Amino acid sequence: MTQFTAAPTRLAVTDTASPSGPLEAPVFIGSEIYRGSSYGRMHPLRVPRVSTVMDLSRALGWLPSAQYQTSPRAKPAALERWHSPEYIAALQAAERAQAVSDEVKARHHIGTISNPVFPEIYRRPATAAGGSILAGERLAAGGVIYNPAGGTHHGMPDRANGFCYLNDPVLAMLSLRHHGAQRIAYVDIDAHHADGVEHGFAGDPDVLMISIHEENLWPKTGKLADDAGGSALNLPVPRSFNDSEMAYILEELILPAVADFAPDAVVLQCGADAVTEDPLAHLDLSNTAHWSVVAALRTLAPRYLVLGGGGYNPWSVGRLWTGVWATLNGHEIPDRLPPAAEQVLRGLEFKGHRLGRNPPEHWFTTLRDTPRPGPVRDQIRESVAQLRRRRGLG
Ligand SMILES: [Zn+2]
Repeated sequence: MTQFTAAPTRLAVTDTASPSGPLEAPVFIGSEIYRGSSYGRMHPLRVPRVSTVMDLSRALGWLPSAQYQTSPRAKPAALERWHSPEYIAALQAAERAQAVSDEVKARHHIGTISNPVFPEIYRRPATAAGGSILAGERLAAGGVIYNPAGGTHHGMPDRANGFCYLNDPVLAMLSLRHHGAQRIAYVDIDAHHADGVEHGFAGDPDVLMISIHEENLWPKTGKLADDAGGSALNLPVPRSFNDSEMAYILEELILPAVADFAPDAVVLQCGADAVTEDPLAHLDLSNTAHWSVVAALRTLAPRYLVLGGGGYNPWSVGRLWTGVWATLNGHEIPDRLPPAAEQVLRGLEFKGHRLGRNPPEHWFTTLRDTPRPGPVRDQIRESVAQLRRRRGLG
């Protein structure tokens, strides 16, 4: 990764000096740019996500201004630590023109059905990336940061991929490293494989990437045998993956592997598309499975960055990611939401999808799903055993 080593002035997204001590409380990085932004009428990312988390957290009294930071937009030079200058220029040009040539479409995969040209095609991902780069700076002396707009784990250096134009997890990890965290554990519980992050750090001995994802789902990479030059543990899981299976993987693989690696920082990509209600995947987790992972990883390194990721049902994403913030702060999640929070969830729409027609009442009145336990299937036990042996965990 030496070619990405840059002078501090090039890296910094703000002029704020690094704090001298660890962060006193978890920091939420957000922005109003996500409110009302849509990839287009028929695209899965037409639904509100981060704005719901901000509104719900405020309605619950969980987002005092001291814990909220507006995300800066990363400058092109900061993005070019991993992305090509030509690609960044193409995104900016696409935003200005609101169109791309066939040549740009073929080379950079923008203007496709998955990665459409939309009004904030540059500013929105550059803001999410700016938040993740800033997190690397602000975590220099330790702490906890949540950037739910981050987690765009499919982005490639020279092209968009899987709704991701930039790769903010990679940029976050480069920023963490630049600010003193040498060894980084990256854990990804999105329903899709973290192909872009794996591309970024394959063969890096100071990075451990663990990705749990649905087998045979797009992008179909991340097979069990794929170890990314020794840097990755890939665990594809079958359809209907349940809470008990996630708990088993957490206890038997994720926690021992991360503890054994002894990282300076943990980055968790907490995509919300592995829950039953998600329209793009076929897994069967409840949001409580995600919160257990969030809580368990917290004590394994002095720096902890939690990112968002996928998640395409507006109610399940908003509820899950707000619960992540509660978990990071130790807030008790009420059994029934107060009226102001309920109003946020009742105000959501899911146009053009059957799930939007008659949402069940508990999507409006609760954050916490009923847990979804089940048998731990042999396939999962055998995969975990194989990965444990590979890391020398017995
Ligand atoms: Zn996903």
